[in-house]
Amino acid sequence: MIDAIVATVEENLRQDMIASGLNRRFNLRILNSRDHADPFGQANVSRVIIGGTIDESGIPTIGIAQSIDPGNFETEESALVLLDLLSEPTGEASLNTYLTAASDRIGFIGRAVGNVTAHEAGHFFGDWHVDQFNEHANLMDQGGNPALMFGVGADGIGGTADDPDVDFGEDVFNPGEGFTGLENTLGRIALTVTR
Ligand SMILES: [Zn+2]
Repeated sequence: MIDAIVATVEENLRQDMIASGLNRRFNLRILNSRDHADPFGQANVSRVIIGGTIDESGIPTIGIAQSIDPGNFETEESALVLLDLLSEPTGEASLNTYLTAASDRIGFIGRAVGNVTAHEAGHFFGDWHVDQFNEHANLMDQGGNPALMFGVGADGIGGTADDPDVDFGEDVFNPGEGFTGLENTLGRIALTVTR
């Protein structure tokens, strides 16, 4: 499971930015608490804590970032990805809702948790929300349409062959947050996470 989450985060936040070719000085190292000592507190180390509950954090959400930091001027920030709502037996935001006997369970949960993790890191790297109810799945889709963010595909079941690879990219700003026009959520991270 950890391997699947880390692979998703690596693809979303690092490989796609390098593949875009937008910034030769893009530079991001992704560590994890299984394989690495915790360097939080050192220069240019931000973290996403995956685990814990609403009760423990005092914040009624699935994920939250310390800031939306356009330009990524603060490079030592924290975000949370809580696991209680994601683990409920039922409910739109629960991963269990999208699992059946046909599901690759680790593949699906690893990708979904990795996508939420990339979303929260996306905020402290500079991205605002985009529209979660249009046809474009984007990792910066606002909460409220979890099936799109988790990438369950047209069959509504996670961990099956039709699951899309949800990535950063171009989408329209979320209409409820005061902006209009297009946001390139990939381009921004490629340019703000830089040497
Ligand atoms: Zn968000």
